[in-house]
Amino acid sequence: MNAAASVQTGTWTSHNPEETFDAGRRVGESLAGGEVLLLSGTLGAGKTVFTKGLAAGLGLDPAEVSSPSFTLVNRHAEGRLVLYHLDLYRLAEGPASAHAVELDELLSDERAVIVIEWAERMGRYRLPPTTWRVHIEGDGEDPRRINITRAADSES
Ligand code: ADP
Ligand code: MG
Repeated sequence: MNAAASVQTGTWTSHNPEETFDAGRRVGESLAGGEVLLLSGTLGAGKTVFTKGLAAGLGLDPAEVSSPSFTLVNRHAEGRLVLYHLDLYRLAEGPASAHAVELDELLSDERAVIVIEWAERMGRYRLPPTTWRVHIEGDGEDPRRINITRAADSES
């Protein structure tokens, strides 16, 4: 396990898209490679906005990041670390989703970071200890609650 990998956990309120972007950027700046971020929250919660910020924190152009709803996985290799951005929205629930995107293969890349939108569609799947859950609550014009927890804390 990479000792340098340490994502700050906690709950924050975001009043606008910029604050959600900044929350993502702070996470992106703290990543060392090998981390998995499981994003959940309703359609329009801000998962992609958060991912754009995270990309910026890796030195990527956030404008290059969009929901990979049709491709399932987008790879961004121009930053400090490689970013794999997945969106499981269109997949049926269960571990088959993870196999559909060959997640095992992505996980073996230690210089990569994996961000998964609609991670709840993945079902039970063996993930590395450096896995965090990012839940975004709220939609529309409402403020968002961004809750970041370490996945192992709730599952071990
Ligand atoms: P998701 O990927 O979760 O479906 P998106 O990131 O694509 O959601 O879209 C979120 C939408 O909500 C954007 O249009 C954004 O401008 C809007 N929005 C309004 N307030 C916020 C906020 N506090 N945080 C994030 N997005 C917000
Ligand atoms: Mg999205």
